[in-house]
Amino acid sequence: MKSPEKFVYVFGSNRSEGAAAMKNLLGGKGANLAEMCRLGITVPSGFTISTEACTAFTEQGRDAVFELIQGEVLAGVKFLETEMGKSFGDASDPLLLSVRSGARASMPGMMDTILNLGLNDEAVLGLARKTNDARFAWDSYRRFVQMYGDVVMGLKPVSKEDHDPFEVIIDMVKAQKGVKLDTDLDADDLKELVQRFKSLIRARIGRDFPTDPWEQLWGAVWAVFESWNNERACVYRELNDIPASWGTAVNVQVMVFGNLGDSSATGVAFSRDAGTGEDLFNGEFLVNAQGEDVVAGIRTPQQVSLVGSQRWAELALVSEEERQLHYPSLQELMPDIYQQLLHAETTLENHFRDMQDIEFTIQQGKLWMLQTRNGKRTGSAMVRIAMEMLQQGMIDEKTALQRVVPDRLNELLHPIFDPGARKAAVILARGLPASPGAATGQIVFHADEAETWAKAGKDVILVRQETSPEDLRGMSVARGILTARGGMTSHAAVVARGMGKCCVSGAGAVHVDLKARTMSIGEAVYHEGDWISLDGSAGEVYAGQIATKDAELSGDFGKLMALTDKYKRMDIRANADTPDEAMVARNFGATGIGLCRTEHMFFEGARILAVREMILADNEAGRRKALAKLLPMQRGDFEGLFREMHDLPVTIRLLDPPLHEFLPHDEANQRTMAAEMGVSLGKIRMRVEELHEFNPMMGHRGCRLGISYPEITEMQARAVFEAALNVRAAGIHVKTEIMVPLVGTVREFNAQADVIRRTAATVFAERGETLDYLLGSMIETPRGALMADSIARQAEFFSFGTNDLTQMTLGFSRDDAGKFLPEYLKRGIYEHDPFRSIDQKGVGVLVQMAVEKGRSVRPDLEVGVCGEHGGDPVSVAFFDQAGLDYVSCSPYRVPIARLAAAQAAIAS
Ligand code: PEP
Ligand code: MG
Repeated sequence: MKSPEKFVYVFGSNRSEGAAAMKNLLGGKGANLAEMCRLGITVPSGFTISTEACTAFTEQGRDAVFELIQGEVLAGVKFLETEMGKSFGDASDPLLLSVRSGARASMPGMMDTILNLGLNDEAVLGLARKTNDARFAWDSYRRFVQMYGDVVMGLKPVSKEDHDPFEVIIDMVKAQKGVKLDTDLDADDLKELVQRFKSLIRARIGRDFPTDPWEQLWGAVWAVFESWNNERACVYRELNDIPASWGTAVNVQVMVFGNLGDSSATGVAFSRDAGTGEDLFNGEFLVNAQGEDVVAGIRTPQQVSLVGSQRWAELALVSEEERQLHYPSLQELMPDIYQQLLHAETTLENHFRDMQDIEFTIQQGKLWMLQTRNGKRTGSAMVRIAMEMLQQGMIDEKTALQRVVPDRLNELLHPIFDPGARKAAVILARGLPASPGAATGQIVFHADEAETWAKAGKDVILVRQETSPEDLRGMSVARGILTARGGMTSHAAVVARGMGKCCVSGAGAVHVDLKARTMSIGEAVYHEGDWISLDGSAGEVYAGQIATKDAELSGDFGKLMALTDKYKRMDIRANADTPDEAMVARNFGATGIGLCRTEHMFFEGARILAVREMILADNEAGRRKALAKLLPMQRGDFEGLFREMHDLPVTIRLLDPPLHEFLPHDEANQRTMAAEMGVSLGKIRMRVEELHEFNPMMGHRGCRLGISYPEITEMQARAVFEAALNVRAAGIHVKTEIMVPLVGTVREFNAQADVIRRTAATVFAERGETLDYLLGSMIETPRGALMADSIARQAEFFSFGTNDLTQMTLGFSRDDAGKFLPEYLKRGIYEHDPFRSIDQKGVGVLVQMAVEKGRSVRPDLEVGVCGEHGGDPVSVAFFDQAGLDYVSCSPYRVPIARLAAAQAAIAS
């Protein structure tokens, strides 16, 4: 299709050299304009200068590219002259052009559009005569000089605080005339504006505004190419992973005018509702206006369809008479045009088989399409449109699955802010989007107070420097959680996601003063009881109350989920510690629990006392006495989980965190503990001191605890086996898996495996029955991954703890990385937050290697991942490639992981 020397592709009434499939060469806009011509849809004729010309421009410079494309551009303009029966540069009846950029991926706001190119002091008179409308002609010229002066000649505000210099002049002229609106300015005023604009340009830029249309055109083309490397575009590309090598195309088209009187208009329309996904053609337009007027939002736009118009009137509290009089729909106002638009929209949607976002202009009763593209949409619209198009036979199952961006399902699963209420809200601070959803509530600083307030029926937001397992109950009753410290896998973040609770973590600007019970952000101080709101999906903290609304799961969501099961290879399990969480996970389609963090059970009710008694005990006998109290409670916990997850595997992990996490660190709570337990404050203090570690995450935790205190492992193993036998006795099928955390050498694993197997034998002998169970190892230390073959000889399954594996491989603390990671991301030292999306090049290699080594000695080794990465779509695709059997993630991410797993399977 493409010859090596060709850079310009024309499209017009009966010729179109481009096509939709040529997006890489022609950019999205150019390719679709060409495609519309092929479909017989009327677009203003034009030509596209390819992205390759842009690349050549960057590499070889302006002069070389001028040589390359000059002839083709001349031929392109000739083509337009023939199409329109006018000449470029003819002052009596000028051919006017628009110039727009258009990259392969849409990059909103990268470069502004230039309209009305070709006007100068003589041509404006010609245009006035030809249209018999001097005001229109001078307004067109005014807009052109303004846009060109800004975009091409670079006349910008001097500083950020400065106003747009052109707008300042417009305001001055309006003030002189004593009028308020641009539309109150007459032809003479607009003429004065043009003169003043040109003087301003001469004074500030040191050059005259170009009068030669060819000079204008080339200036515009170079400006588009240059804009590809302006700061705004570079930042946008960086954020959206768009390579600089793509380049942008330039689209040159003949002008059509939506501002040529009352039979002209301009608008935007969607083939389906972008908010809800409803299959309803909708959109907005303005009579006698140019595109930028719609965007500027000065006038209230009218609705395209009658239904849309009536719905709008209801919401805007506009009476039916008033609506008909002042805001009639296009369907009522110009029924013929509306039918043509509807026809074009249907053609385009059927052709592209996706919801279309179109721009159109009506010039004196004739419809022109300016653009079409696949429309942006909300998460729920994404699901509905995909499933309805599948039902309508427009797309197949695989396409339907690929149409939904997994992360966008979040919008359906959690409460969101009422969009209207959010607009007016003020952002106080930003942190990490640790757990999605929206929450509004009164500030409390202590977990126990969160409980008291919540019991009294108040909505609270728990604000902490950082959270610890002690805060669990307070977190569970809070509407949302805000922490000043901590990353994406900090305690607050992990627990909040598990609970499906909104959380913003690591909001560095927030200073918490627990004593004064205040939170300060800069100069502003907020007290206990003040209202704030959190957006956990964006990581934003707002002042005051913002109304929220619940997520609604539609039937389409269920259908989409059912479809994922047909295509995905991996199983999706959930990280769940309580029967409630297990129920949520099951409802979302989890087919097992991949991680039960048993320590979370240690904080509930009376058990924390028994845990503390164990920690304070001076010897094994003392510890066993305390553990005996814990046994029935822990057994009860496991029974609940097994019952909830009947028929599905439940993976239980032995105690993992360092023991100091179970003791209070402030004196007041230490005193309470002393009183409750009847021991001296001194003893508690001493134990806290003994347990202090400089680096607790690399300290006495994981299997190291069970090796020092095998009686803890024994109690936990007994609780698991007894619970499993009890539940099985009730006729429920249980599938038990026990795993050992933080293993670095097979000897660690063996030491714990001995205790577990011995305990199993004892329990089975006592009960006179046996039970199948799997005994596996977490792989979460780099050494564990390196030694995977030797560990797999003993362990029956692996579960990658990618949170710790990331922490230890990168040497980044999970809890403190927030201090430098943003800077690292900004400077591109790391491309993504490695705690959110697996570091494929580093940590990922360890995962792949451990899977291979493990399966080399045990081919049927079951392998899963239970770190937070199990719920990240990009990581899920990686794990699919690495051959894992399952991923395990927080219950609310199960649908996301299911979809991501299906997409990964389809892609491979
Ligand atoms: C992990 O390290 O990835 C893991 C799942 O364990 P935790 O987050 O509890 O340390
Ligand atoms: Mg871990």
